[in-house]
Amino acid sequence: MNNPKKYLLYIIYAFIVTVLFSLLIWLGHFSAFQDFITKVEQSSFDLRQNIISKHKKANPDIVILSVDDATYEFIMDKYGSWPISRQTWSDVTEAIEKVNPKYIIFDLLFVKANIKDKQADINLINTVKKYNNIYLSMNFDNYAEEIRKSKDLDEKLQLKIKKGELKDNEYITFTNVRAVMDELIEATKNIGIINVTRDKDGIIRNTTPIFKYKEKYYPNLSLIVAVNILNKDGVEIKNNKIIIDEKHTIPLDNTQRTTLNWYGKSGTYRHIPLWETIKAIKNQDNKFLKENFNNKIVYIGTTATSLSDIKSVPTESNMAGVEFHATFLNNILDNNFIKRISHKIDLLISVILCFIVGYFVLKTSSVLKTILFMVIILLLYLITATFLMYKYNLWISVVLPFISVVTTFILAYCEKYLLKSKDYEQTYKLAVTDGLTQLYNHRYFQEQMINQINNYKRYGTVFSLILIDIDFFKKFNDTYGHQSGDCVLKQVANILKKNSRTSDIACRYGGEEMSIILTNTNKNEAIITAEKICNAVRNNKFILANGEKVTVTISVGVATVGLNGEKPQELIEYSDKCLYKAKESGRNQVVYET
Ligand code: GH3
Ligand code: MG
Ligand code: MG
Repeated sequence: MNNPKKYLLYIIYAFIVTVLFSLLIWLGHFSAFQDFITKVEQSSFDLRQNIISKHKKANPDIVILSVDDATYEFIMDKYGSWPISRQTWSDVTEAIEKVNPKYIIFDLLFVKANIKDKQADINLINTVKKYNNIYLSMNFDNYAEEIRKSKDLDEKLQLKIKKGELKDNEYITFTNVRAVMDELIEATKNIGIINVTRDKDGIIRNTTPIFKYKEKYYPNLSLIVAVNILNKDGVEIKNNKIIIDEKHTIPLDNTQRTTLNWYGKSGTYRHIPLWETIKAIKNQDNKFLKENFNNKIVYIGTTATSLSDIKSVPTESNMAGVEFHATFLNNILDNNFIKRISHKIDLLISVILCFIVGYFVLKTSSVLKTILFMVIILLLYLITATFLMYKYNLWISVVLPFISVVTTFILAYCEKYLLKSKDYEQTYKLAVTDGLTQLYNHRYFQEQMINQINNYKRYGTVFSLILIDIDFFKKFNDTYGHQSGDCVLKQVANILKKNSRTSDIACRYGGEEMSIILTNTNKNEAIITAEKICNAVRNNKFILANGEKVTVTISVGVATVGLNGEKPQELIEYSDKCLYKAKESGRNQVVYET
């Protein structure tokens, strides 16, 4: 391949890539397309999470005191009513506190006062008041004021933001609260928010670390636990990050939420069923309590499938909400959040991959090799993306590069075959054309004669052949020089072309002899054309290189299939005989009969 062509190829290729990306950007304006891309990207994220979570270890200090299906039956059998009474919670908390847990975190709501059993409420409130390592949860929502008046929350429940602020949006801002009982709010400042938001496909990948309610900020349940574990009195917000301290930061996306990094499926954290705990307390089984709760961060929540606090997360379609909250705390303590790479970098990676794949396609002749190469590139990319998530918690886009690479692959192939067919066309043209006159060459003439004979035999299509020889050309060459001879040859060739139809095949038979295969032409029509050409040459002023004008004549022989022969050789011989006769009869004329 010569150089100009190579550059042309690069220019065309750059053009294709530009078109491709303009197309992608254009498609990006359609929400259905965006949704599709997002959905596939999220699925690829889930896949990566499933792969890497197998190799991750969750914090062993976090355990879950679980209200499981068995506990539901146990409570119904034992107490004959549901929910679990406030007295039970007070008793269980007191018993666990005796074996020194680090924290007890309720992912359960104690909302309304219990009118029937006021004493149980008082006992629970006293327990909460007594220990400062107990955390309670609340929910924000957007209920209308007519349904529930939106309550002013005590100032002590706010999260102290020492620096910076969040960008307001629908995911973090709420207008109403399902607050816990006033007495509990009075009893503790350790209350966090447990709202979760699902992606469009119903899966929860993000969590909201800080909520906004009545223009004030409130912490997520696990965030407030973490802030206290790390001994801080607030957070800073800077560069789209929540900074607890130098080693613990939470990256925020443009919705001010953060993407969780999973440690595995349900049961990542040790579950201790509540019914076993209640039994152990009753039996004063201190060993059980110590083993399970001493020095532990104890999340208390519902894991029973029948009680429906079930979430779909990347690693599991039904994970208990409490494990979701535990994962958030675990992420904060390990400083282990997913960081989404910016779209600009995603785009840059896509462009680079496209160039590599496109270049390879254009350079490699084997289709199998290019397909293999593309598959390997994509596989390597997937592995790299998974590795980056595993090692550096980075989420690089998979879908955009994949779509780009596959599109480039197809386009590059189209381009390649376009260029190839053009190449082929040119080579073919060179192979059948005479260099001096630009008429078809002798080989092509022979081929076409056979074709025409075949057509004649199969379909009866008549054709004629005229053979032309320039008169006294040797003398002409001797007089004016070989170069002037060439000049005349070219001009005669042009006259032939001008005076025949596009379907006719004008050839240089050899030397200064030319021929025209007149397709679909009978004898009479052929004679007319031959005369026309003979006349045109006779009347033409041939201009030589030195500007001199000369005249030249030709002799022409005509043969027609059927009448004068049925084989190429017979027709050529017949027309040659006519030509000879024309020469004999004084040249400068057409002869069609021997
Ligand atoms: P005539 O055909 O009238 O009997 O006389 P002639 O002199 O033309 O005889 P002939 O056809 O046998 O001569 C062919 C001459 O054409 C020989 C050669 O000098 C000249 N010729 C053949 N090919 C070329 C060519 O490519 N360029 C030039 N300049 N001359 C050619
Ligand atoms: Mg000749
Ligand atoms: Mg001649």
